[in-house]
Amino acid sequence: MYLATLLLLALQAPAAAPCPSAPWASQPQPRFEDHFQPVSVRLDLSRWVEGGAEKVKVDGFFQEGPWAGNPHRPVDHSRYGEHELRVRDQQGQLLYSRAFSSLFAEWRTTEEALAGKPRLFQESLRFPRPKQPVTLELVTRDRKGGETLVWSYSYLGRLDGLTPKAPGVAVLDLHRGDADPTQNLDILLVADGYDASQQAKLRADLRRFADALLAAPAFAAHRDQVSIRALAYATDGSGPAEPRKKLKGGSRVGATFNTFGSERYLTVGDDRALQHLAALAPQDTLVVLVNTARYGGAGIFRSWAVFPSDNDFDDYVFIHEFGHSFGGLGDEYYSSSVAYNEFYPKGFEPWEPNITALLDGPDSAKWDALLDEGVPVPTPERPEFSSSTGVFEGAGYSARGLYRPALDCIMFSKKVQGFCKVCGCALEWMIMEEVSQDVR
Ligand SMILES: [Zn+2]
Repeated sequence: MYLATLLLLALQAPAAAPCPSAPWASQPQPRFEDHFQPVSVRLDLSRWVEGGAEKVKVDGFFQEGPWAGNPHRPVDHSRYGEHELRVRDQQGQLLYSRAFSSLFAEWRTTEEALAGKPRLFQESLRFPRPKQPVTLELVTRDRKGGETLVWSYSYLGRLDGLTPKAPGVAVLDLHRGDADPTQNLDILLVADGYDASQQAKLRADLRRFADALLAAPAFAAHRDQVSIRALAYATDGSGPAEPRKKLKGGSRVGATFNTFGSERYLTVGDDRALQHLAALAPQDTLVVLVNTARYGGAGIFRSWAVFPSDNDFDDYVFIHEFGHSFGGLGDEYYSSSVAYNEFYPKGFEPWEPNITALLDGPDSAKWDALLDEGVPVPTPERPEFSSSTGVFEGAGYSARGLYRPALDCIMFSKKVQGFCKVCGCALEWMIMEEVSQDVR
């Protein structure tokens, strides 16, 4: 089947019944223009663990282009992810926040990290330029609901320069929504691992995935508020690194298989290089298209999604990983091996909107409002419930004690191309975070 048709089926409109509002939708918001200029500041950090504690070092502050975030939603009330950047005024009032996850947080659950081996991670965080002195805070949340303030910094407007130039990189407009990036969901595709002889393929691949995304109902409904741009450049060499085959590839952002020893875990190894590139265009969400026919990928909430260009399952991987990175969706599967240890500790509710531990009994699924009538909870895996929204046991790498909303979903297996109703609504919430003009 032609890819666009597959993807049209893939991103199902969020159910016939309308989605409920996001659980945090009624929370109040500060007035953006009172506190910020519409300019993006990028904070480059290094992070590591020392004596069991997280350490943070500032590598620099850089002024980027116009602020692309939604000025009507400066504070993020989702409480998703393992981290949050917070900007407070001198009185301690929260002016801006952004929840996110990181490769660093995932690494902390690996054997390597648990054995105490050192490793340094580089990250970049963006915030709008404050009009007054502020305090920047970085918080890490553990999977048991605890929060640790790992870094605090009095920010008086320091700028270490403009972002470095990125020679030989073209910014392509694949689809233009609203002219104002603050009123758009700005998706930035970075096409990586295409050498000089593969530039026509690069453009064709970008067009293919951008068109497919726009044809998908969840995004088609907001077509006038979605902008898709791409960064195109030629690399020295082709494809990502494949350490098990001793292939270096040609990635400009350190794209590599075998992350944390997991053969199919294709990630960005040089986040700093990626962020230098990403500074060239407004972006709310970053996706790296890697020129390879091998199966693999990754999606980390508000960091990036990575997917291969030419695998038989490239459409599935693209949609699945974008579900992680943009929607904050968790893996609903539980049978594949992963590199993590006790990713979801027992007795605690995961933050992901599509996984529940059902801690307070059958009525406590976080998608209770979306359950189909007459569906028992927990929901037996029987044919009559094959298309129901229920509460099915087995999710988040665990066959017991964690539950998912549907028997099958693109976050569960490659067999179906659609998101379940709960995942569809979670995506809709995130689109609204970027485009809603409601004043709260
Ligand atoms: Zn789902």
